[in-house]
Amino acid sequence: MKLSPLALRAVSRRARDAPTLLRQTTSLPLHSSHRWLSHTAVRRSEGERKWSTPLAEKIATAIEATEPMPLARYMRMCLTSDLGGYYTRGDLKEGHDQFGLKGDFVTSPEISQIFGELIGIWFVAEWLSQGRPSRGVELIEVGPGRGTLMDDILRTIKKYPMAPAIDAIYMVEASAHLRNVQKNLLCGPDAQVSESKVGYHSVCKHTEIPIVWTQTIESIPKDPKKMPFIVAHEFFDALPIHAFQAVELPPNQDASNASSGPPRTSPTAASPPTAAGKPNIQWREMVVSPVPGQPKIDQENPEPEFQMSLAKHATRHSRHLPDLYPRFRNLKSIPNAVVEICPDAGLYAADFAARIGGSPKHPKPEPSGAALILDYGPSDTIPVNSLRGIRKHLHVSPFSEPGLVDLSVDVDFTAVADSAIRASEGVEVHGPVDQAEFLTRMAIRERAEQLMRAADPERARDIEKSYKRLVDRGPNGMGKLYKALAILPENGGRRAPVGFGGDIAGA
Ligand code: SAH
Repeated sequence: MKLSPLALRAVSRRARDAPTLLRQTTSLPLHSSHRWLSHTAVRRSEGERKWSTPLAEKIATAIEATEPMPLARYMRMCLTSDLGGYYTRGDLKEGHDQFGLKGDFVTSPEISQIFGELIGIWFVAEWLSQGRPSRGVELIEVGPGRGTLMDDILRTIKKYPMAPAIDAIYMVEASAHLRNVQKNLLCGPDAQVSESKVGYHSVCKHTEIPIVWTQTIESIPKDPKKMPFIVAHEFFDALPIHAFQAVELPPNQDASNASSGPPRTSPTAASPPTAAGKPNIQWREMVVSPVPGQPKIDQENPEPEFQMSLAKHATRHSRHLPDLYPRFRNLKSIPNAVVEICPDAGLYAADFAARIGGSPKHPKPEPSGAALILDYGPSDTIPVNSLRGIRKHLHVSPFSEPGLVDLSVDVDFTAVADSAIRASEGVEVHGPVDQAEFLTRMAIRERAEQLMRAADPERARDIEKSYKRLVDRGPNGMGKLYKALAILPENGGRRAPVGFGGDIAGA
């Protein structure tokens, strides 16, 4: 079946934000709107070091108490710490959050309503292809931001017979503020919220379907009778990474306690003696520590307060983590090779796969459902040096103003696909394909033209600009940098999903 944009009735909606900085972008914008908020500086008595934020001081104290911290721990504290993490801090107000012109960056669902509509259609197409069950469907979104994507998905699904099949909607959200923004959008500002052991509950205003907010995906029950449709948009890039570098050591030096680091605690952790003539190369972890002295933080472009360096000795992670990935094996023989590893991305992908295809712990007799992961990162290579900091639509150091700067990394799509396939025999993976390819196959142009015909000239120009931005393959567009990856029930590769080269089977 060819997807017809006419299946969607033209709905003229609010104008989305004007173009602003994407989280994945290679060029620095020329204007500078970055203003430093001097009241956030943590001042201590004369002569003592000042920190830009309470979180900066907390990170420094944690490092003082132990040793330089793995990059993953630094990222996790910066993004989701209870004490002023970028997503979890308590000073955000409705309309003044991370997104849009007044915030730090803009994402596809905030650029155009068409993005969420096409993802809604993608779910409808999968539901049709998988026998259009009359109940048992669950919609799950991880990292829903302002809730705009789910709102557009629901508005679209409501027009199809799939809507009554949805039993529940789950939103995995770490931020109490964004959870509230999502609830106001999807349920209405006056809707009641109740709390249970699972999370927070309310009812969707579009469909009267219950919505449940949880902090992690594990809190969502795994029921083998359910058909889960899962979406993750710009979520995996916010998950903490470990970074490692291959370091050549003097021959016969034991990797696990080389240099001046603390003594090895477990004799079994020693690396095997190197074969004669072979370089002795070991993985070393990138760790974060405060920069010496007092960086200038009371200024418009504050200096970084932390720095990343190579751990002086082997760490718990460097001994085991990179060796778990067969495709890093060859890199280990290349001095100075760098790899980034995101264990949380693997856990999420494995969870999605287990929900769709079952797993030894959660068997599912009949695989069903689908997951769509949309994010930026290389299709088939390993991300390197991809950590970036963004504030107020500018690139800034990821080591300045912890908690006020957004941190994000490239997604390792190959690792995500591997984790899904390893977790469940009942799934297969399609993609990644470029966002331009995915959206074009989903008929984005036809839908944009349909909306433009129903709009006044100014609004029509906005619609055209937004749609082009989503598929533009240039360095400032989102068509090539962003990718889509799908996890589906295993079918021997016989049926590709729509957007990935397939049609709707059985429709
Ligand atoms: N999908 C949205 C938002 C992307 S920003 C959009 O495209 O507009 C990342 C989102 O993930 C935010 O909602 C943030 O609060 C949430 N988030 C980040 N890290 C998280 C974590 N570890 N657990 C749960 N939610 C997280």
